Parts: sequence; C-alpha cells; structure tokens
Amino acid sequence: MQRFPVIQEEDCIACGACEEMCPEVFRVPESLGFAQVVNPGGGDEAVMEEVLEACPTHCIHWSDEG
Ligand code: SF4
Repeated sequence: MQRFPVIQEEDCIACGACEEMCPEVFRVPESLGFAQVVNPGGGDEAVMEEVLEACPTHCIHWSDEG
C-alpha cells in the first residue's frame, strides 16, 4: 500500500530541508511559515524516508491517505 507524507504544521520550523531534498512533494512558502505537501504521491518513498529522518523537528509523518 502506498504511504503519503503529512506535515504536523504546528511543529514545523520552515527550515526548508524537505523542499530542498524532495521539491516534487514539499513546498515551504515564506508567507506561510510552515511546509506543505503539494503532491503527496509524487515522490520516491526511499527519498521521502530520508526526508522524514532529516526533518529537524520530526514533524513529517506517514499516512495511508494522501
Ligand atoms: S524539514 Fe521539517 S521542519 Fe523543515 S520545513 Fe520541512 S517539515 Fe518543516
């Protein structure tokens, strides 16, 4: 089953790492102050696993729904 990344927005510090590592899935608009998942199914799962680990506040989680 495919998994989709979800961001716990209140814990995101808008560091930009997720967008840098996987821009096809994540965006960090300056105006918002937190990251967004713009294309939940658009990334390689192995790369996203690295993004989840790299996120400094660990605020990206897997979900069964995109
Ligand atoms: S890596 Fe984590 S803390 Fe940084 S912008 Fe992405 S979701 Fe937010």
